[in-house]
Amino acid sequence: MSKSEVIKLTEEFIKIPSVSKDGNEAITDKLEEIVKSFNFVCERYSFKDRFGTTKHNLIAKLGEGKGGLGFFVHSDTVPVSDDWQGFEPRIEDNKLFGRGACDMKGPIAAALLAIKGLKAKDLKKPVYFVAVADEEWGLQGAKQLSRSKNMLTSNSWPDMGVVTEPTGLIPVYAHKGAYQIEVTAHGRAAHSSTDLGKSANFMIAPFLAEMAELREKLMVDESYMNHEFTPATNGFNLILNDYKTAHNVTAAKSTAALNFRTMPNSREKDLVDYIEERAKSYGFDFSGSGVAAFYTDKNSEVIKLALAATGEKEAMTVPYGTDALIYQPFLDQVVLGAGNIEQAHTVDEYIDIAELERSVGVYRQMIEDYCL
Ligand SMILES: [Zn+2]
Repeated sequence: MSKSEVIKLTEEFIKIPSVSKDGNEAITDKLEEIVKSFNFVCERYSFKDRFGTTKHNLIAKLGEGKGGLGFFVHSDTVPVSDDWQGFEPRIEDNKLFGRGACDMKGPIAAALLAIKGLKAKDLKKPVYFVAVADEEWGLQGAKQLSRSKNMLTSNSWPDMGVVTEPTGLIPVYAHKGAYQIEVTAHGRAAHSSTDLGKSANFMIAPFLAEMAELREKLMVDESYMNHEFTPATNGFNLILNDYKTAHNVTAAKSTAALNFRTMPNSREKDLVDYIEERAKSYGFDFSGSGVAAFYTDKNSEVIKLALAATGEKEAMTVPYGTDALIYQPFLDQVVLGAGNIEQAHTVDEYIDIAELERSVGVYRQMIEDYCL
């Protein structure tokens, strides 16, 4: 059987390595070349990551006016492993194997073929294609994009978005966000034989005991849960750091990093306020920050559009995070793409060929229903 266009394009993308740490210039050049050939107007924003590597975000638009539908992709992938070089695609059992096959070079190819052949004069609302760097590295590309004054102050921003992460082609209306807290106790370093020191580890211990109790409570108290998600609990976790203090030295500093997943109506403010109050009662430093869960109203137009195009009856939630967290203040979004998230980030990553082919039509239908 001859290969479909979406398979050929996905293979082409897999052959262009774009592991987060190595950069995404070559793949961004390719994406820009393709959308330009579709007569999209392109803007490219570059930034330096924390190691000084230049990364690239691409925004492409076809058509005039406000609002419209955007396809939001990330062009980076997680690394390959020593025993698996994923940059040579191969087909087996109706599956396409390769690094990024489902996360998300396959879905990128599907979005591109869905926007191929559109004519600006036929569009009632514009269509966008947005490809960012470093989703796999703390959503850094999307964060850069959302900070870009140019995008936020201009009228040129779609009012609906499809984040094309693998969801088995079932519309996703929500996923959890995240909150991080750091609590630090300061002691005094001295040789433990002298009794002159004050161990920050012993100082923080009673606070840690309280956090252990709190975790027990979070596992049973329904008011901190949200049963739209699986699991319904917030994954409260604790990591400790005493900065590699030697065994015969009293720790000068001890830090407890607490983190949990944010969900709507799960009392996250109460939780943060309580932890802050307890930390400060011991005189410890406290800092915290987080992102709200991604949540789109199930009855919103973008969810209805996605349900109509896929033929699904109900949208679902997923446990993993996406760039939708960052774009959320600016537009209504659905997470929707071919492929199984369990296949992402693994050795021998693959995407189901039939599902990938079907996703082109799903995206195209959404454009037809909203923009044409
Ligand atoms: Zn992804």
